Amino acid sequence: MDPSFDTYRLTDEHQMLRETVHQLASDKIVPRAAEVDATSEFPWDVYDALRKAELHAVHIPEEYGGVGADSIATAIVIEEVARACASSSLIPAVNKLGTVPLLLSASEELKRQVLPPVASGEAMFSYALSEREAGSDAAAMRTRAARDGDHWVLNGTKCWITNAGVSSYYTVMAVTDPSQGAKGISAFVVHKDDPGFSVGTKERKLGIKGSPTCEIHFADCTIPEDRIIGEPGTGFRTALRTLDHTRLTIGAQAVGIAQGAIDASLSYIKERRQFGRPIADFQGVQFILADMAMKTEAARQLIYVAAGKAERGEPDLTFASAAAKVFASDTAMQVTTDAVQLFGGYGYTTDFPVERMMRDAKITQIYEGTNQINRMVMARQLLG
Ligand SMILES: Cc1cc2nc3c(=O)[nH]c(=O)nc-3n(C[C@H](O)[C@H](O)[C@H](O)COP(=O)(O)OP(=O)(O)OC[C@H]3O[C@@H](n4cnc5c(N)ncnc54)[C@H](O)[C@@H]3O)c2cc1C
Repeated sequence: MDPSFDTYRLTDEHQMLRETVHQLASDKIVPRAAEVDATSEFPWDVYDALRKAELHAVHIPEEYGGVGADSIATAIVIEEVARACASSSLIPAVNKLGTVPLLLSASEELKRQVLPPVASGEAMFSYALSEREAGSDAAAMRTRAARDGDHWVLNGTKCWITNAGVSSYYTVMAVTDPSQGAKGISAFVVHKDDPGFSVGTKERKLGIKGSPTCEIHFADCTIPEDRIIGEPGTGFRTALRTLDHTRLTIGAQAVGIAQGAIDASLSYIKERRQFGRPIADFQGVQFILADMAMKTEAARQLIYVAAGKAERGEPDLTFASAAAKVFASDTAMQVTTDAVQLFGGYGYTTDFPVERMMRDAKITQIYEGTNQINRMVMARQLLG
């Protein structure tokens, strides 16, 4: 066969991986999703199931004890878990977000120190950039890190930290030279047991309720000097380069949520009867369904194209990843809202999963840069 036929399709390994995760998610995660949402509790049983199947942090390279999945494979894992439960999909997604700064910029020694426990599932990793007064304008952060002999001492508060409290490690961006603006920001690894580190109260949220979001505090938090990621002053650049790799994974989460809503809608509209026939017989309903599937598939393809660019290190990754995230998250919001519509009044109740999916979808338009900020990122790339 002409090998060029393979240029625009997933490999057999990717397809097999999808089937494996799909099965695990259907068996172990779908039955837990409503309860995780209702109780707002981190799903440790799902974490254990993902860990047993080596799906909790698939992107960690083999040399650090991981399975070394590529960006497309990682997106597939996140997508399939999110189809079942968006909160649970933040396990592989945030492990990636927290550790990409290390993979991009850390010393070999630091990588060997902190990546193997994540690969084995002994520890999770979070990413701490945002602050109360520094959200979209992240470079306006106030958390400081100062050298003290052979240590760094951190002071300040980060907010909105996904999986705070359940993670053992945190990649933390802090100002080391206030006179240098964004070029005076450095990145560090902080461990939950480091003196002066503490986790604040949990936010009460609209969705992704099974993934804790908390403030984290640094009060003279003292860490060894070798926990800096890269050179002093390179932290903000590392933080932004990280987002180039992980925005597309938020897109994958959004595609998974949208697909979950399509799956639920498909079964419902074939069962639900009005005017003496299944509502799936009505063309008005079919058009809604077709648009939901069309947009979700378009989003999915954008994610895989961006993931391919991430693997190959192509220069337009920044645009592609932002575009994939924005398109997929706007699609997820629309598709889940349409799903609620297709369920009618029942869709508005917690008896069916689509209202949860609609609430969960909303966050994908907000984090890792709001969709307005991501549109600015895209425009900047276009304008040069
Ligand atoms: C559940 C949750 C989990 C999160 N997880 C993490 C995490 O793990 N780590 C982390 O570091 N952060 C995390 N965040 C923070 C998230 O990335 C920020 O909330 C986001 O970047 C927006 O910042 P903000 O909330 O301060 O909004 P603001 O920056 O105050 O924005 C408010 C509004 O103004 C708009 N806006 C702002 N500036 C502009 C502009 N220049 N042009 C046009 N519109 C603009 C925004 O788009 C938005 O609509 C999380 C947030 C939430 C809610």
